[in-house]
Amino acid sequence: MLMCSIAISSPFALSVKVQTRAYAQIRIDVQYADRASLHSRGVSREAMKSKAKTRANNVTLFLAGDLMTGRGIDQILTHPSRPHLFESFVSSATTYVELAEKLGGPIPRETGFDYVWGEALNELKRAHPDVRIVNLETAVTTSEDAWPGKGIHYRMHPANVPCLTRAGLDCCVLANNHVLDWGYAGLSETLSVLHAAGIRTAGAGHDATEAAAPAVVALQDQVRVLVFAFAVASSGVPAEWTATDGQAGINWLADLSENTVERVARQVSRYRRDGDLCIASIHWGVNWGYRISRSEREFAHRLIDTVGLHLVHGHSSHHVKGIEVYQSKAILYGCGDLLNDYEGIGGYESFRGDLALMFFATLDASGALVRLDMTPTQTRRFQIHRAPSDTSAWLAQTLNRECAHLGTSVTQQTAVERVKLRQQ
Ligand SMILES: [Zn+2]
Repeated sequence: MLMCSIAISSPFALSVKVQTRAYAQIRIDVQYADRASLHSRGVSREAMKSKAKTRANNVTLFLAGDLMTGRGIDQILTHPSRPHLFESFVSSATTYVELAEKLGGPIPRETGFDYVWGEALNELKRAHPDVRIVNLETAVTTSEDAWPGKGIHYRMHPANVPCLTRAGLDCCVLANNHVLDWGYAGLSETLSVLHAAGIRTAGAGHDATEAAAPAVVALQDQVRVLVFAFAVASSGVPAEWTATDGQAGINWLADLSENTVERVARQVSRYRRDGDLCIASIHWGVNWGYRISRSEREFAHRLIDTVGLHLVHGHSSHHVKGIEVYQSKAILYGCGDLLNDYEGIGGYESFRGDLALMFFATLDASGALVRLDMTPTQTRRFQIHRAPSDTSAWLAQTLNRECAHLGTSVTQQTAVERVKLRQQ
């Protein structure tokens, strides 16, 4: 068996493991700090002991970017929606299935609800995260109120919601550019279907207060994980989707200014209690492109410094972007698409939008990042697979290039089970 390793170096000791059998698996374990580097930073033995005590209260989050179970994906599930679309070149959602089949071969219909998750289900079982969070990039509705003038409309039939519960999702983020694709009736149905299925939502609601409220996941030992979700104009979300006192919509941010930081701080302070782990889930930036703007980076830092949030879960780009560890808090600038129906669509192949990462982030009781495991995935025939070894290597190289801008780096080694790097 070929074993290779990848490590990201940052102010923390990190180690990564890639295993290659018939498939490849990259695991990036981010350790808060090793003994030597704690001493070099003047941390006392007592503080280290206290840090060790908090290990018992560690919380592991599963995080993924866009999960798009609408349109073509919905057509292969047990209860497909009416397939008509209003796109410039495509009038039926079944076309996306046919395009994917041309590329990858036959895709089963009425697949049952496990099919699309493929090997991801086993990976979730292995990692056994405490909380599972994705950006759900589709409405869940039978509404026919297609948002006028919008080219793309995603919906999944409500009867297909077991597709989400099968993976044990705790929270679907809805602050994105598709949740209102089928109008206010579509949003309202999406909320009620997800809630009835026991899935919490964040970032959209029947009014501004509901849209700004976090999803609250209560764990044992009084620990709560709060997910605050925001959609930034830069991700293509129309301003008119903003939730107001009298209007349903999403928790929309016009910009990443200081005023916006203050607004987010006010929203967060209404809900957080001592001991809560607080996540900012943000739909921001363009679909294709690795660049992280200065304002995005500063905003993420301010969410940590000023608002006191513990992890930034960024999405919108259809591919993975760089990762930063700032003040011991993880910033995932773009998580990529865990699932979409784009397989048969050309034009951006160089970004490898078929690849993504399943992020498993372990935080300690203070919200500091203890460890980050990432499993590379590839969508084929509308099913999530573990990425093959050469593909994982490409992903690792790409991460290395992008993390370098953020003070982290990725190295890959072969024939080593695990590598641990220390502060540069
Ligand atoms: Zn989006």
